Formats: sequence, structure tokens, C-alpha cells
Amino acid sequence: MSPDPFLCYSEEPDVAVDLVRLARSLADPSGTGVRAVVPPGAPADLADRLAAGGAHGLEIVPGPAESDPQVLAATLAEIVRVAKPGLLLFGSTKRGREVAGRLAGLLDLPALTGATAVRLEGESVRVEREALSGNAVAIERIPRGPAIVAVLPGTTGPAPAPVASVERREHPTAPPPPLTERTEVRTKPGGQLEIEKAERIVTIGRGLRKKEDLTMIEALARALGAEVGCTRPLAAEAGWLSDDHWIGLTGHRVHPKLYVALGVSGAVQHLVGMRSARIVVAVNRDANAPIFAQADYKIVGDLYQIVPALLRALGG
Ligand SMILES: Cc1cc2nc3c(=O)[nH]c(=O)nc-3n(C[C@H](O)[C@H](O)[C@H](O)COP(=O)(O)OP(=O)(O)OC[C@H]3O[C@@H](n4cnc5c(N)ncnc54)[C@H](O)[C@@H]3O)c2cc1C
Repeated sequence: MSPDPFLCYSEEPDVAVDLVRLARSLADPSGTGVRAVVPPGAPADLADRLAAGGAHGLEIVPGPAESDPQVLAATLAEIVRVAKPGLLLFGSTKRGREVAGRLAGLLDLPALTGATAVRLEGESVRVEREALSGNAVAIERIPRGPAIVAVLPGTTGPAPAPVASVERREHPTAPPPPLTERTEVRTKPGGQLEIEKAERIVTIGRGLRKKEDLTMIEALARALGAEVGCTRPLAAEAGWLSDDHWIGLTGHRVHPKLYVALGVSGAVQHLVGMRSARIVVAVNRDANAPIFAQADYKIVGDLYQIVPALLRALGG
């Protein structure tokens, strides 16, 4: 069986480009059949980035970034009916999962989210996902054609050969009859931090004694050009930081170049969220803290002494 044509969708530009690369690595070597959606509100250069990234066709959906997921799913359903992709690759982001779920409902398609690896095997799609708090890998197979797999950001393939000519189709969104009504919009406290995109993160855990001491952590983050992350207790229980700082299984998955963990024990649910950090520095007064098993640089000591020393060394 020849590999199916692919349709890639993510509202996150970098993830969309990664999906095209992933699809190209799954597509047959003659390179047919990778199409990508340019979603509403996409930056002006996304179409060119997707084309340069290896897409053979672009499905352009104009409109504002905050387009209703229900409307978007209906537009994607039309695209699927025309393009007839065998495999739809979505970014497993919050919005990606929502649109994927609605599309799966509209077209009665199988859908898996949170994939960390995708392969074609005969008549099926083999999907790997984390299980048991990231301690095991679940391997699932769904029949090819069509199916939706939403992959975690960062899952991609090698840079493919460029495509000579890219077909572009525009799809105006036609709102379907609303199933839901928006009665109120409330801004979630915590601002617009997108910690998944941070290249450097200073994460604080329960080693911090009181909220006021966050100023010292923020100063270190500033000195390193980093964002502040936290473990679940600091966001969910103490409420010292908003949810967009929370890293882990039930928080955000991050992929920074530098991850500094201060007073973090290294519970498995936290490690799931930071495992793909490139360089990990851990500060903990317990030499046996599990975080040290993940760390490239291990500092056994009191963060209340180490952080000021680091600040002095950094000239902060
Ligand atoms: C279903 C489920 C989902 C979960 N999801 C998440 C998640 O997404 N993210 C997450 O983070 N957790 C999650 N948790 C919670 C997780 O199991 C841990 O409880 C949590 O990660 C521990 O946070 P912590 O490391 O800040 O605190 P602790 O485990 O209490 O560790 C504090 C650490 O600080 C050190 N310390 C104390 N004082 C100092 C000091 N002065 N200097 C240096 N070191 C010091 C201690 O030695 C200790 O190692 C989840 C739990 C469950 C059950």
C-alpha cells in the first residue's frame, strides 16, 4: 500500500512546520501528498515557511486567530472531504486537541492525542504515547485512512527536500449553525506566558518558604534571560504562581536549552514535563533528591544561599 496523503494542522507556526517535516518523513520518497493548513490568524510568513518546510499543498483558511473551533472544525471537514487525506496530523496543543476532537466528531474519525512518535505499519498507523506518568510507552495502532493523530510539540522529522511548486487553495469559513453560545469572555489570570516556548527556565518548587521569596527567583530568571516555572504545589495548592508557570504531567511540557530546578524534589509527574530539557541544573539540599538523576549539574545545598551566590556571580 502506498503511503497516504497527509494533512497537517496546527495554530502554532513552529508546530505546523514540524508536522510537515514529520509527514514528509512518513510520506513515500517521491514525496506526494503532504498538505498543510494555514489557519486563521497565521503570521504572514507561515504559508512560505510551510512551503519551504516541504508541504506540497496549502489549504489557506482566512479569518481572525480566535476563530470559533467549531467553525474551524467545519471548515477542516470540508477540506478533508476534498483532499481525502489518509492521515491528519495535528499539534497536540490545547486548541489543536479541541479542534481535532470536534473534527473527529463531525467526520466520525478515530483520533489519538498526545502522540510522541508516529509510524506507518502496513494498514495501520502505529502511535506511541506516554503512559503511567511517563514511566512507560503505550503503543497503539489505528487503521489507516482517514484518522487523526495529534502529536506533542517538538515531534518532527528531518528537513525534507524542497518542493518545486506548491498548490495553494483558499477556503473561506462558512459558519455552521451554532451549537454553543458565547455568553461571556473572562481573561484567565496569569497573562500570556507561553512557557513551552522558553529557551531557559528557572523552576521553583516547594523548597521556597514563602511567596515573597519569589522576587529572588525572578531576579535569577531575569539575570539568565529565563522564564519562571514551578511545580504543581506552587500553582495548584499555594497559588503563588499562575497555571501557565506549572510544569509537568498535568501542567506544561517544556523543551528549553537550560532548565534550573530549585528546591524541586523531582517527582515523576514533574519530570514528565521537563525531561527533554537539554541542560539541567538542580539545586537541592537533599543529596538523594530524584531530580539529581536528571541533572547535568548538581548543587547540593540550600537554595537560600545558592541563589544569592548565583546572582552575585551573574552580576545581578
Ligand atoms: C495525578 C498527579 C499529577 C501531578 N502533576 C504534576 C505536575 O504536572 N507537575 C508537578 O510538578 N507535580 C505534579 N504532581 C505532584 C507531584 O507528585 C509532586 O508532589 C510535586 O511535583 C512535588 O513538588 P515539589 O518538588 O515542589 O515539592 P516536594 O516534593 O515537597 O520537594 C521539595 C524539595 O525541595 C527541597 N528543599 C526544601 N528546602 C530547600 C532549600 N532551602 N534549598 C534547597 N532545596 C530545598 C527538598 O529537599 C525537596 O526535595 C502530580 C501529582 C499527581 C498525583
